[in-house]
Amino acid sequence: MSARILLVDGVATNRIVLNVKLIAARYLVDSAAGIPEALTIVADTPPDLILMAVGGSDDESINFCRKVKSDTASADTPIIMIGTICDPAQRLAALRAGADDVICRPVHDQVLLARIRSLLRARDAAAELRMRDDTHRALGLGEPAAVFETPGRVAILGRSIGTARARAARLGALTPHRCSAGALDDRLGHAEDVADTRADVVLIDGTGMTPALLAETLPPLVSELRSRSGTRDVGQIAVLPDHTEDTAAILLDIGVNDVVAGPVSDHELALRVEAVMARKKQRERLRQSVRDGLRAAVTDPLTGLYNRRYAEPHLLRLARSCRDAGSDFAMMVLDIDHFKSINDAHGHGVGDRVLVMVAERLRRSVRAEDLVARIGGEEFLVAMPDTDPVEARAAAERLRTAICSRGFDLGQHRPVLSVTLSVGVAMAGQSAYLAADDPATGRTCIDAMFERADAALYRAKNSGRNMVNMALSAA
Ligand code: GH3
Ligand code: MG
Ligand code: MG
Repeated sequence: MSARILLVDGVATNRIVLNVKLIAARYLVDSAAGIPEALTIVADTPPDLILMAVGGSDDESINFCRKVKSDTASADTPIIMIGTICDPAQRLAALRAGADDVICRPVHDQVLLARIRSLLRARDAAAELRMRDDTHRALGLGEPAAVFETPGRVAILGRSIGTARARAARLGALTPHRCSAGALDDRLGHAEDVADTRADVVLIDGTGMTPALLAETLPPLVSELRSRSGTRDVGQIAVLPDHTEDTAAILLDIGVNDVVAGPVSDHELALRVEAVMARKKQRERLRQSVRDGLRAAVTDPLTGLYNRRYAEPHLLRLARSCRDAGSDFAMMVLDIDHFKSINDAHGHGVGDRVLVMVAERLRRSVRAEDLVARIGGEEFLVAMPDTDPVEARAAAERLRTAICSRGFDLGQHRPVLSVTLSVGVAMAGQSAYLAADDPATGRTCIDAMFERADAALYRAKNSGRNMVNMALSAA
């Protein structure tokens, strides 16, 4: 679907000219001649991006910008200000009010369109992450962690190490961030250097370079930074000399977050670094919270073990890879003996602590490639790839002994508890694979294996508990 752009300009001819260009670029355009009209449009048909003319002494537009950015419904809407006079103070005021960019007339069409594309892309990516984050929270998976903002790191690459160091010193004085300096040269490997500095933002300073050299050096560098895993998420700002609009447009299209072409004050650059840094950290936080949410969805909150939701698809994958490799694997169902009486005698809280300790002992007694999951109240599942029946019995005995050989010390004033568990073991065996997954019933070889392990567990319980029982072969 085409993005919707709101064009705010009091001068009718300006509106008409821009309108034609934006429609040619396949955007949907709403126009407003003044602020009240623009506010109505923002409320009624929220735009994806706002393009707004800013006049000489006109701080009405600055107020509009502030209002849009402070309202949660529209805070993520990018705003590009287009200035007529564009003195440094006016640019600073617009950026401080939350404008994403300030462009001076005459507007270079390619730069403007590339800038629009770049801002819309960033907005879509942020919206997607936010949506997943909201879903996780709605499911009760993971609350957002408290945020302690620490200063970030900025890597500055300049024409020479001298110019980069001078820029780093000036920027370091205006922002709380740690700035490091490096020289732009024609060798590859800048991305590795940037990764080494663990930068959050890289400032590529092309000041003093010829347009030809810029066109040759910067696009490969930007692509290299975006394509490497260590620097993919680093925020990028390019500072270019005058008359390098073509390069500016290319850089925006291949992934630079912000470009300033022409003279720029240190204060303005500091603000832009701040904005790119804030967005980078926000993306990082959202990604982290999505990851935490995913982890919470497959983890048992009491013991930290995987839950049944994780175990089932994992076992299916394991079964298929063992079948392909022609190897066997073992599935064990482990159930704590007389657990109810622990609860009854000592309370549910003690029962919970026993569960945590049992989980920890099981986890410590298996290999890294084995799976331990909590699949029910006091019931666990262990899957061991590349394991034959003899090894499986030995491993099951090891797990049983890990629980019964040492008492459970619950601290002062409490008796040390004896806990035991019973284990049922089933082997996949080649014949299990022959009982192919049945798409009609949705039954898989894993279901059949689980039933055999569970039946073996039942036998272990009936034979006196605290023992291992091996299921008969699946044939
Ligand atoms: P058996 O040897 O036959 O397995 O006997 P059991 O007492 O262990 O088995 P039963 O199924 O009768 O009881 C299991 C108990 O586990 C009942 C239930 O209250 C308790 N339980 C289940 N989940 C939890 C939990 O998360 N925390 C605590 N403390 N207890 C739990
Ligand atoms: Mg039990
Ligand atoms: Mg049970």
